[in-house]
Parts: sequence; C-alpha cells; structure tokens
Amino acid sequence: MLYGIISDIHSNKQALDAVLVQLKDVDKIICLGDIIGYGPEPNECVEIIRGLNGIVIVGNHDLASLGEKDIELFNPHAKEAILWTTTRLNEENKRYLRDLPYKANFENAVVVHGSLRDFTDEYILSVYDALGSFELLEHEILFIGHTHAPYYFQKGDRVYGERLRNGDIIKIDGIKRIINVGSVGQPRDVDNRASFAIFDTEKKEIEIKRVPYDISKTQRLMREYKLPDFLIFRLEIGI
Ligand code: ZN
Repeated sequence: MLYGIISDIHSNKQALDAVLVQLKDVDKIICLGDIIGYGPEPNECVEIIRGLNGIVIVGNHDLASLGEKDIELFNPHAKEAILWTTTRLNEENKRYLRDLPYKANFENAVVVHGSLRDFTDEYILSVYDALGSFELLEHEILFIGHTHAPYYFQKGDRVYGERLRNGDIIKIDGIKRIINVGSVGQPRDVDNRASFAIFDTEKKEIEIKRVPYDISKTQRLMREYKLPDFLIFRLEIGI
C-alpha cells in the first residue's frame, strides 16, 4: 500500500492542488488536521479533502474556526484569520469538520495533529517533548503535524531527533518513531515548498517530499480578502 500523508493545509488550495498531483498514484490519503485557518480558500480546501475518501483527523485551527476552542490562545494574526474563516465556512463544511476524530490508526501507525499527550495543541519540538508521546505510543509510528516543520524522532537506546529535507527516507525497522510530515499550506522551515510524506508499506519506508506551488496566487487572494500582511509575507519565505 502507498499512503500519502499531508497536514496543515491552512486553506491554501494552490499548495494542496500541487501536492495532490504528486499523490495521484497513492492508495489512500491521510490528513493530519488544520485543513483551514490562515489562508484564503477554506471551503474549497475542506471540499477537496472531503472528496478524497481518506483518513482525516481534526487540528486546533479547525476546532477554533468552529468556535470549539478559545481563540485568545492564538497569536493576533492567527486569531484574525480564524475569525475571518468562521464567517466564510458554510454549514455543510462546518458539520464535516465537527465530526472529525482526534486520533486514528492505520497499518502500524497512529495519527494525531499535535501529540499523544494533547491531540490538538502540544508542539513536539524537542527530545523532551517527544519522550512524553513515546511513553504513550503503542504503535510503531506516530505521524504528526502542527509545528509546520518536517522532523523525526526515534527511540532506540536513547531518543534522537533530526530535521527532514526533500527526498529524505526513513526506513521502518521496528524502532518506534515520531514523524512530522511538515505543512502543505504554510511551511515554517525556511523552505517555501509544500511538504508531505509518502509511506510505502511494501518497501517499508517513508519519504519526505517538497513541491513548489503558485505562492503568488495564494497571496493575491489573501490580499483581496484583507488577511494579515504577515501571513501573506511568510509564505514566500517559509517561516
Ligand atoms: Zn497548523
């Protein structure tokens, strides 16, 4: 089986389209949440994800846009975009997002948006953070998003972590791993290309891929809708 694993689309349809072209031959898409928030096309992105028939879980921005999370916890730019998103989302898409699970399993993997300690909100940024989820990890692999930077941790004799770049391959060999697939619609690792992963269960490997997309088109729409300047600017730098 070939799985395409995507996360943090953040209403960026140009980025999502570019990634799905790369994933046209996979058997199933797994989406790790934050379909919306930040970007200009929330309904379009939810509708594309709905049509994929994949495994989809909920993220913190999805919940906040439904009014199910205190938006005071978000920074001012994120908050402004969430409030705008709430006014744009149609009822059918809200209903779809509201029914999404927090956690799902497939093959030898479990998927959440943030971490196993806090499914939607905790950022796994360090070996110390990773340890908290390794303690709760019953599967071989935990796939996450949320930080917008592709990264992995593994737990052999000690816990070790490293950044993942385009074309990096992780072999699946019985060692427990946490794999962050990065962000489709708002990468923050100073690489402005959309990030995603392909999990090949026959070859037992996971590859991180990056693909360029039409950033200026997303920015044009964001300007049209008067979304915050910083959110528009950060896309071309990848921060
Ligand atoms: Zn996100």
